[in-house]
Amino acid sequence: MPRVEIDSDLCENSQVCEAVCPEDVFVIDRGMISVASPAECTLCWKCVENCCSGAIRLED
Ligand code: SF4
Ligand code: SF4
Repeated sequence: MPRVEIDSDLCENSQVCEAVCPEDVFVIDRGMISVASPAECTLCWKCVENCCSGAIRLED
């Protein structure tokens, strides 16, 4: 299962990752982004490519 992690020290809560992810990996809960369903990740890398702060760590 892919590992999808957000480094909370780097994340600026732009929520871009949730917007670009074609799967339902991220969730916005009470205004804050978090990783909900890493098992759904297809390793398309869109979240990493679009994150402005380099906060997403993705591993196969
Ligand atoms: S795109 Fe990057 S900075 Fe924006 S919410 Fe996602 S992890 Fe945080
Ligand atoms: S790699 Fe693609 S599918 Fe996986 S979390 Fe990022 S945007 Fe979503």
